[in-house]
Amino acid sequence: MSIRKKYIAGNWKMNKLSAEASSLAAEIVKGAKAAKCKVLIAPPFTALSEVSKIVKGTNVILGAQNMSNEKSGAHTGEISIDMLKDLGVGAVILGHSERRIIYGETDKFINSKIKLALAEKMEVIFCVGETLEEREAGKAADVVSKQVINGLKDVPEADLSLITIAYEPVWAIGTGKTATDRDADDVHAIIRQTLKKIYSAGSAEKMVIQYGGSVKADNAAGLLSMENIDGALVGGASLKAEQFLAIINSVK
Ligand code: PEP
Repeated sequence: MSIRKKYIAGNWKMNKLSAEASSLAAEIVKGAKAAKCKVLIAPPFTALSEVSKIVKGTNVILGAQNMSNEKSGAHTGEISIDMLKDLGVGAVILGHSERRIIYGETDKFINSKIKLALAEKMEVIFCVGETLEEREAGKAADVVSKQVINGLKDVPEADLSLITIAYEPVWAIGTGKTATDRDADDVHAIIRQTLKKIYSAGSAEKMVIQYGGSVKADNAAGLLSMENIDGALVGGASLKAEQFLAIINSVK
């Protein structure tokens, strides 16, 4: 029996206008009342305000998909941590591969965002994962360990309780290709080993590590049954209440 509570998070990415977001959130809140796991939904920034009203006082946590690494000031187009808190956001997804690859976010930049979030007591879902090229070159373990080490640079052990790591192999995101249960669990074990080296066995053991990459209702139970897989970060399947709730309900 794991000491870690399972955690299912939905990343809606750049989808859903306010009204659609509100009805999706309402369906999720209704269906997740008896969830046996921690549940988060991360709508786009523009829907946070509306969705915040719907999740308030429920067991569904409001997440944001990104935030600025600066507290405030002259940063046109950016969203600050205080703005997120103001809307009731409880956790922020940082280091998603789409931010890394499309928008050029580096480990160092992601690390600065993680440190700001932690300093402000905001929970973080910190994403790591290798590309197909890196996997085929046999570098998956090295790439992921390096992302973990760099992303957590100067993060004190006491703050780890605010962090969830999401292992998301880039080649599995939105492609319909899922890592096998075994392959995913192997990388999760490597992440845990890395945390043990940086911090301690106790902290590594407590860290919740989600898997992400084409998680659906029909593959969730298998993935979640693995020793080191403690939840899922779900993209596409989190956009349909029925599918997302089926993933949540696969946690027994
Ligand atoms: C994601 O982007 O975090 C993700 C895992 O997407 P999908 O489930 O669609 O592969």
